[in-house]
Amino acid sequence: MSSIETRCVQGGYVAGNGEPRQVPIVQSTTFKYDSSEDMGKLFDLEAEGYFYTRLQNPTNDAVAKKICQLEGGSAAMLTSSGQAATFFSLFNICENGGHVVASSAIYGGSYNLLAHTMAKMGVESTFVSPTCSREELEAAFRPNTKAVFGESIANPALAVLDIQMFAEAAHAHGVPLIVDNTFPTPVNCRPIEWGADIVTHSTTKYMDGHGSAVGGAIVDSGNFDWMAHADKFPGLTTPDESYHGIVYAQKFGQQGAFITKATSQLMRDFGSIQSPQNAYYLNLGLESLHVRVPQHCKNGQAAAEFLATHPKVASVRYPGLKGDRYYDLAQKYMPNGTCGVVSFDVAGGRAAAERFMGALKICNIETHVADSRTCCLHPASATHRQMSDEELVAAGISPAMVRLSCGLEGTDDIIADLEQALASI
Ligand SMILES: *Cc1c(COP(=O)(O)O)cnc(C)c1O
Repeated sequence: MSSIETRCVQGGYVAGNGEPRQVPIVQSTTFKYDSSEDMGKLFDLEAEGYFYTRLQNPTNDAVAKKICQLEGGSAAMLTSSGQAATFFSLFNICENGGHVVASSAIYGGSYNLLAHTMAKMGVESTFVSPTCSREELEAAFRPNTKAVFGESIANPALAVLDIQMFAEAAHAHGVPLIVDNTFPTPVNCRPIEWGADIVTHSTTKYMDGHGSAVGGAIVDSGNFDWMAHADKFPGLTTPDESYHGIVYAQKFGQQGAFITKATSQLMRDFGSIQSPQNAYYLNLGLESLHVRVPQHCKNGQAAAEFLATHPKVASVRYPGLKGDRYYDLAQKYMPNGTCGVVSFDVAGGRAAAERFMGALKICNIETHVADSRTCCLHPASATHRQMSDEELVAAGISPAMVRLSCGLEGTDDIIADLEQALASI
């Protein structure tokens, strides 16, 4: 199955003779066996099969397999949310005493997870600028570093990660690079092709695409040699006493160890499973991902170009815009397009931004991005409203900043809405 289009439509599930054409929703918590011996083999990970939906479910597995094929990985799993995917991808290899090097331009939830919650679990993080030099990046590593983490396009900073440079630095220190690829999706960017080892997603965004189901996914490239760095990753390379003394990297090899451990250990213990019903909705979204993403990008590009020349707009950030500080990296890693999200500062400060937002008609005010309906958010009066103007600036968010997520509507209608709202200021 070669093209990304065919993988979006047909990947992950093959119907047998007389079986449902659409991926069936297996709405069952449990599965029946003829003998205890049959079931025992599943518990010993000696045979493949299902026994309890917290660990694995056929609907989820089919959809995970499609995302795996889209990213070009060796194994994948779904999680209940993007946050769960980020946490599992890191905690699977970083335990108490470990350390993570992360780009500072990441989703707020991922920053909180690393800077606060995982710090309480004894995993420290060092944040580096997404525009750091190789030397600055090198300086962030410690002997106990276990992973490097970044976003291919950061939400909401819209910084593009230099995936190749971050991967080379990670590998020089014997650790994997984990990339959150939510914004470009595998239609526009496939981080594994540039050296990333693990890819994560908030499937809540473009993959679902319709604002209907929260979810996440983790894809392993199968390229990282855990055994070659056995002392750094004892969870994968020494016996798991909580699972009959299995050594994941030996029993499941480089291709299967990471996802098998995350499933049989982390999903077992944390239980952040995606419901089969939500996996079904996600799959409906994936079937048209390759058709929708170009339209999101077309609208994002048009909105960015319109805003960049408008006298009532002070500045625009969009990696597809010529002159943007991330334009060259975007051309390298995602030459067919970036995403539909644009951020800009309205001239005239906070009051002008609030006025502009209130005048929008097609663009709805929402705490969301990346679905079929255009939406926007004024962080200073929503997600970051507890901060003073000074604190906002320190956090890299201007009081006049608006984050616009271009949906799938007609380009001219979105531009006309922006135009009339700017005219009202
Ligand atoms: C939304 C988002 C997340 C978190 O995903 P949820 O599905 O909301 O838990 C993580 N990373 C990025 C880039 C996101 O946009």
